[in-house]
Amino acid sequence: MAIIVQKFGGTSVKSPENRRAALGHIAKAKNMGYDVVVVVSAMGRMGDPYATDTLIHLLKTEGGGEVSPKKKDLIMACGEIISTAVMASYIELQGFKTEAMTGFQAGILTTADFGNAEIIKVDPKPIKEKLREGNIVVVAGFQGQTEKGEITTLGRGGSDTSAAALGGYLEAELVEIYTDVPGIAVTDPRIVPEAPFISKISYDEVIAMADNGAKVIHPRAVKAAKKFNTPLKVKSTFEEDGGTIIGPAESDLTISGIPLQRNLVEAKFSRADKYNDKETEKLLKLSCDGSVYLDSTGASIVLIDGEQEKSAKILAEELKSNAEFYHDIAKVSVVYKSTVDSRMLNKEITELFLENNIPVVIHQSLNNCSKFIINDKDATKAVDIIFHRYF
Ligand code: ADP
Ligand code: MG
Repeated sequence: MAIIVQKFGGTSVKSPENRRAALGHIAKAKNMGYDVVVVVSAMGRMGDPYATDTLIHLLKTEGGGEVSPKKKDLIMACGEIISTAVMASYIELQGFKTEAMTGFQAGILTTADFGNAEIIKVDPKPIKEKLREGNIVVVAGFQGQTEKGEITTLGRGGSDTSAAALGGYLEAELVEIYTDVPGIAVTDPRIVPEAPFISKISYDEVIAMADNGAKVIHPRAVKAAKKFNTPLKVKSTFEEDGGTIIGPAESDLTISGIPLQRNLVEAKFSRADKYNDKETEKLLKLSCDGSVYLDSTGASIVLIDGEQEKSAKILAEELKSNAEFYHDIAKVSVVYKSTVDSRMLNKEITELFLENNIPVVIHQSLNNCSKFIINDKDATKAVDIIFHRYF
């Protein structure tokens, strides 16, 4: 029987009404004859009792601020486990047979990078066996285990990655990512409410969007789906139809995305000699967007999250470099079609920023994506003017 994987994000499993809406999609797929695998996130957001951020807060309060990444993973994995038990029981109450599994029971093997582990492989046998018995299998997203059996988590948005990887290894016909918006829009609908939703878009376009901050889907999830050539669909839990299908084919749009990354720190590394490949690799690992930018003085700029400033200082010492930090930085990017004249596009956007008194710290164009580093106070205005220039 064909397998479908359905992932429900935090808002979709947060309350009884929302779980009922999620059930509608699960029951529909099951009644259509699919073998259904449901992947769930933790219930709700910060402040909600079992949300991941709430659990981290508990640990930080008791652990004196600094906690080991391994222990942090142990508590973070609980949110999804709670959600799995709740969702599976609820589905069962509606008359379906269910099996609830942690990420580790579901055969998800990861690296030992606690807090940001990568999936090495998935053993499809445990889930397949439960599907064969007629169960709807509910799996805790965001988690796996190392070879040694230690519990790991997959980084923010990791449940998307769990769903995509399960879809790949189970050879699913489709992976559906259910969320609180009806698909992928050109830009975050919270910033530009009139931004249109895209019906069809390529893996590469979405990877460029997600790598540069569009948090509607995790970039690793899209990369995993691309590797297995599994179609992904992003859609709303609260609507019957619609959604964005992600596959090999490009969208019909010249500009398919204007992602924004906020509250960044610009770490500027400088020294007399250039960095060799190994050193550049270390800078890349530190960066939150997989890029090292060069400024006009030849210094290497890396964008980091505030939390990583300490690691950046340690790296600067190791690289015998001078490090300067600039706070309240944002990055707005424009994802464009391969046929676009990028020089022309960059000229237009640079002029647009100038007209609107938005200083650009650095600009770089790479892989059909133009990135502009700006001050965080100009972030939403920058997205808005680019959107209205092209749409
Ligand atoms: P979930 O908990 O379901 O995983 P997320 O908060 O991770 O939900 O992702 C959904 C949110 O992503 C939306 O509410 C929206 O504000 C945001 N978002 C950012 N960029 C986009 C975009 N280009 N298209 C759609 N939503 C986006
Ligand atoms: Mg998410």
